[in-house]
Amino acid sequence: MKKIQMVDLKGQYHEIKDQVNTAIDNILETSAFINGPDVKEFQKELEGYLNVKHVIPCANGTDALQIAMMGLGLKPGDEVITADFTFAATVEVIALLQLTPVLVDVESDTFNIDIEAVKKAITPKTKAIVPVHLFGQCSNMDAIMNIAEEHNLFVIEDTAQAIGANHTSASGKKQKAGTIGHVGSTSFFPSKNLGCYGDGGAIFTNDDELAHTLRGMVNHGMYVRYHHDVVGVNSRLDTIQAAVLRAKLPKLDEYCDARREAARKYNAAFAGQENMITPKTVNGCEGICDTCDCHVFHQYTLKITNGKRDALVEHFKEKGIPCGVYYPIPLHRQKAYLDDRYREEDFPVTNQLVKEVISLPMHTELDNEQIDYITSTLIGFVNG
Ligand SMILES: *Cc1c(COP(=O)(O)O)cnc(C)c1O
Repeated sequence: MKKIQMVDLKGQYHEIKDQVNTAIDNILETSAFINGPDVKEFQKELEGYLNVKHVIPCANGTDALQIAMMGLGLKPGDEVITADFTFAATVEVIALLQLTPVLVDVESDTFNIDIEAVKKAITPKTKAIVPVHLFGQCSNMDAIMNIAEEHNLFVIEDTAQAIGANHTSASGKKQKAGTIGHVGSTSFFPSKNLGCYGDGGAIFTNDDELAHTLRGMVNHGMYVRYHHDVVGVNSRLDTIQAAVLRAKLPKLDEYCDARREAARKYNAAFAGQENMITPKTVNGCEGICDTCDCHVFHQYTLKITNGKRDALVEHFKEKGIPCGVYYPIPLHRQKAYLDDRYREEDFPVTNQLVKEVISLPMHTELDNEQIDYITSTLIGFVNG
């Protein structure tokens, strides 16, 4: 059996090696390292793929979130509601901009932000909601957009883990994750579903005026060279990363299909087993089908409900199976984000999830032998 990897970047690279190497050689020869032609081309290709009017490439997914909030004109003291169960980047930028993070609980079955908790958290100071489409599946965007409209709030979709996923609204309208709210952000960190070979990110919006503001903001607030109209940052996608992404974007749907295939095999192996709960797919289909693209399985995250999660992590280590615990500590209990406003009883789901979740190897190169080994080892240990 091939050694099992949590993510397999090498296998993917080998498939597009000639194209990537040629493109990088060409960039080295022309030395157009910043704002070279590939950046604009990638921007247009991603706009086409997402069916969104504007893609603003930037340096990473954290910057994308921060710049989105800057572009919307959020001011110190404005309250921004987001999920307690996510990667810290989401809350970090809220705090950095001196906005007030308001963390709320998530849903136990989808891991995404809890709609009732969002409603309860709204105050006159609330200015935005940041749903995080965790592990590759959209939050309940119908409900979030309704709340936003009712309370006049911005919606910033953190799509770092869900690029390529679709959201099907109750009306049947299908939209790509990140293009439903006022603005969306994503990350091209190497292990993300569309990863480059370093750091990268992008912001999406259908709003022409906001797009213009954001394009200047990523480049020192310049709209005309050496004229700085707003306070900006230095956050550009470099040309080499754009070239890598151009080679990978046409394969993104194929990558998502391969991830779903692995998820289906995991689900089939765990079906009927006690003490484990497989991830729920919503927004369009009940199973995992390739036509609705509702889940792109950035992570395949299982809940182990008999208290053996930590022991399983150790057991996996001995058996040569990599795994991850995303996330082991709720944000409201992280030292940097402690706040007297938070009460433990407001986060029953997150507090439980951090004890139960385990993410299994998930990438496009998993074979049946590996999946059988992972699932039989897991079942044998948890239910043995
Ligand atoms: C990865 C990630 C980010 C940050 O992306 P970077 O490119 O690493 O800055 C933000 N939010 C979520 C949910 C992520 O998973």
